[in-house]
Amino acid sequence: SEVDDRLVAFLKSGIYQLDNANAFFIDPVRVLNRCYTRFRVSPSTYYSRFFPTLNNSSAENPQNASKISRKRKRRDKEKKKDQALNLREQMADRRHKEVRLALLEAHEALLGANQLLETLRNLRNDGEKNNGGSISQESELDFVELGSVWQAPLYEIILKVHEDDTAVENAGVESYSRRVAPVFDNLVANDGNSDIEAELLDHKYILPKQSCFYMSDLRQIHTLVPAESDCGFNVIVIDPPWENSSAHQKLKYQTLPNRYFLSLPIKQLTHSAGALVALWVTNREKLRNFVENELFPKWGVKHAATFYWLKVKADGVLISELDLFHHRPYECLLLGFSQGKEMNCEQLLRLNSIPDNQVFVSVPGDYSRKPPIGELLLEYAPGLKPARCIELFSREMMAGWTSWGNEPLHFQDSRYFLES
Ligand code: SAM
Repeated sequence: SEVDDRLVAFLKSGIYQLDNANAFFIDPVRVLNRCYTRFRVSPSTYYSRFFPTLNNSSAENPQNASKISRKRKRRDKEKKKDQALNLREQMADRRHKEVRLALLEAHEALLGANQLLETLRNLRNDGEKNNGGSISQESELDFVELGSVWQAPLYEIILKVHEDDTAVENAGVESYSRRVAPVFDNLVANDGNSDIEAELLDHKYILPKQSCFYMSDLRQIHTLVPAESDCGFNVIVIDPPWENSSAHQKLKYQTLPNRYFLSLPIKQLTHSAGALVALWVTNREKLRNFVENELFPKWGVKHAATFYWLKVKADGVLISELDLFHHRPYECLLLGFSQGKEMNCEQLLRLNSIPDNQVFVSVPGDYSRKPPIGELLLEYAPGLKPARCIELFSREMMAGWTSWGNEPLHFQDSRYFLES
């Protein structure tokens, strides 16, 4: 049947188009796995949260019950506060009300997709049981710290490049050559058609096929600007380290004041045929105002549509109540176009046809890790195919993409992978 076909397609692609809604469900593990041949993303290390185990469900755990009652108190407090919203809160509330229906439709569509819901519960242990589990050491390298010491320019990454892409195996021994490259302030590429292993200070990393990374501080980002604009990018995804009050975030990565992002060289990174710019933002009204009134104008980006990432737990339930003011179960991806040097007005107009309020639903992975939506953006990319794509402030790599940030190898650590 048609329903079965869609599920089969989802099990391959990781993307499921939901009925009667402008929405998709995404399994990031399956989407990412299409970048790999020798390795697989480990579902249990990806899905580190929101998969309840027996001993932390609220029914059995009094600690959780008290958490819930604390939540209720907070909600009551928020209700009272609701009655006296200040102007900024009113604007945020209006934004929320505008998208609320699209989000509800998406969620209802998910709850109605019975076959998909059944697979949801198993996303975390898909195929992992038959496997030895994750293949490497516990500790991860702190790239920010490593990149800030005087020896940083001396650190080298060793790529195990396969002699030919058909993975020659001579009597069970794979043949590869070692390629050595500085790991910081240097474009490191795996141009091959399969994923490869790399080593840095006794740590192992898996690099997807046809991908590259540039690991540096923001101060060096200008090195990425291409000499010719036809070597620029057609898709630019940006997930800035916005400041916010979350103590948890402070432990996870450094944040930067908004003014630093004004100087990102978006125009210079834009391909002569133009670029689709996709910016992750939080729900803080002050930030939305900054982006709309200062950041996009400064970058020369014209807003075209807004997409939403709706977060659910493994049972399909939203991770928090939809209308909870300070804990929305969704995040926004603002989409706009950056005009290329060779574009005329007609071309710019033709670009403006991204459906607004598209929703993608997924079970979140690690703190602040965004689902891999790059592929869903490709159809809106201006210029010739294949589009040239870059992600700024990235913590992982994807086939066909350049990843820049001060820790683009973070989720490439072999502890996040299984051997195929
Ligand atoms: N999109 C990522 C993901 O899905 O995992 C999350 C990106 S996180 C919001 C922001 C990233 O910016 C962090 O990796 C952080 O270390 C990095 N960052 C913070 N300050 C930076 C700087 N001065 N230069 C380069 N990267 C920086």
